[in-house]
Amino acid sequence: MNHAPLRDPVVHIAGARALAPDLLVVPDRGIPLVPNIGIIGGTQAVLVVDTGMGTSNAEEVLALAREVARGRRLYLTTTHFHPEHAFGAHVFAGQATYLVNRAQAQDLQVKGQGYLEMFRGFGVPVADRLDGAVGVPTPDVVYDGVHELDLGGRTVLLRPTGQGHTKGDQVIEVPDAGALFTGDLAETAHFAIFPWFPPHDTDVSGVRWLAVMEQLAAAGHTTVVPGHGEVGGPQVLADVRDHLRELREETWRRRDSALSEPEITAEVRALLIERHPLWAGREWIEKGVSCLCAEHGA
Ligand SMILES: [Zn+2]
Repeated sequence: MNHAPLRDPVVHIAGARALAPDLLVVPDRGIPLVPNIGIIGGTQAVLVVDTGMGTSNAEEVLALAREVARGRRLYLTTTHFHPEHAFGAHVFAGQATYLVNRAQAQDLQVKGQGYLEMFRGFGVPVADRLDGAVGVPTPDVVYDGVHELDLGGRTVLLRPTGQGHTKGDQVIEVPDAGALFTGDLAETAHFAIFPWFPPHDTDVSGVRWLAVMEQLAAAGHTTVVPGHGEVGGPQVLADVRDHLRELREETWRRRDSALSEPEITAEVRALLIERHPLWAGREWIEKGVSCLCAEHGA
């Protein structure tokens, strides 16, 4: 997810490109609240990763997936429950089998409605995308542990990571292509997105997220599709890991001193902007600092 966008969060299907045979990404084109979307095929079935926000975006994604699939069975999964990733799933009902990990299904159930209402408050373009036809998605299949999805000659791993950006994050691995879809656990050229909205949602954990990124960065993925931003190599994961580490260290070092939280926020914000002058999403630094202050000594 992203903050206070002014642009219509439209998915541009025409920009779809192949990362490998039968492995497509529909890039976000740098538009806030548009995710990178994946379409992954085997001989028997095709998996869509994330829907884009709302009915018409998801209809276009589904149309592209059907065109690619040419009769192969369709599956859908979502990286986490946030609206731009999952709130087009209703369009796939009856067309694709929608699979999610248990913790994400719980996020949808517990927080989905609240996020729908929060996002509708972000202004006209987003509210229009999330009109009355859009409700909280209902998965067809909920799994525990790592789910191996056999697409025919290609097995994709749907791997829950444990709490990080949300409680129910999962990453999607395409081992034969060395590819990883991270959802919002990783962004390129962007400050880490901390959906820290007390008292409504405090499930993001900077500490656990860093642990997740340490594992992902060590796992040898060669092609990384972040939730938002440019597709890249393993450096995408290392950069997020290093950024979460610096955010934690700079926050905690000041928390150990007598500084107040507003002072900590101001100092860390200035420091990180100086270090990453070209990164987007500066509004998330403050939320990251607040989250890590709450986790300090916990
Ligand atoms: Zn998100």
